[in-house]
Amino acid sequence: MVEQPVSTPLALTNDGTLEIVFLGTGTAFARRLFQTNLLIIKGEEHILVDFGMTGPQALQSLGLSAMDIRTILPTHSHSDHIGGLEYLTLVNRYFARPSGKDKLNMIITDEYRPLLWEMSLRGGLEYNEQNAEGRRLSFEDLYTTHVPQPITVEPRSIFSIMMNGIKLELFHTNHIPGEADSPKDAFITYGLLIDDRVFFSGDTKFDRDLIDMYADRAEIMFHDASMTPNQVHAWIDDLRGIPEDIRAKMFLVHYQDELTDDAATDFAGLAKQGVRYLFP
Ligand SMILES: [Zn+2]
Repeated sequence: MVEQPVSTPLALTNDGTLEIVFLGTGTAFARRLFQTNLLIIKGEEHILVDFGMTGPQALQSLGLSAMDIRTILPTHSHSDHIGGLEYLTLVNRYFARPSGKDKLNMIITDEYRPLLWEMSLRGGLEYNEQNAEGRRLSFEDLYTTHVPQPITVEPRSIFSIMMNGIKLELFHTNHIPGEADSPKDAFITYGLLIDDRVFFSGDTKFDRDLIDMYADRAEIMFHDASMTPNQVHAWIDDLRGIPEDIRAKMFLVHYQDELTDDAATDFAGLAKQGVRYLFP
């Protein structure tokens, strides 16, 4: 992996190299950092993974705007991951599409789509300026849907999709509630294996089985980390207990504002905003 500083505006296309850029690396409550959302870029394709409340400002810091985003993949329904989604959708509907751009692509499983729409997005998006004519908007009016297909349910649910040359494997994580003992008991939350090379935990408690499942296949692992014991995120002291060779390729992400590089000396480091992670 090669790290390069972002130069603005960040290009959303490249020569075909897999590229990861974090819009932010902070927690849901971050005030200095932006929230943990990321862009996957490869060739002509880009996929925005999550878009929280800080998403619009984070895009601006990269010299981009919501107008530039073509494809979104929401991992779960917390506000630091979908809090900017209504905004992104309305920018697409009122500005991008009238200027000739396509409907927003959304990568979402069949199991998660009804939850995201009925419990989160519908309230702000269904009613619109056309309601006087009796017409409400549906999910399909707003998004072109791309559905990852299930490949297994044991020991946890895994889905897969190929999106214009970017292969994504979505796996269930055990994030909430605190009492859930396994992903099967937990609310739907996904992590990702990107192009069979890069692991992104998404939001998860410490889950040794998950790490073991992907450690061999992943060149680099970006893992959720909390500096203090936490009911719904991975505590760094638990992560310190995994083998050294796995820690050596693990970057911590979704961390508190105050965190410095000193905290991550047992790992590959902290994932950083403003860096292009390139996988030639
Ligand atoms: Zn979360």
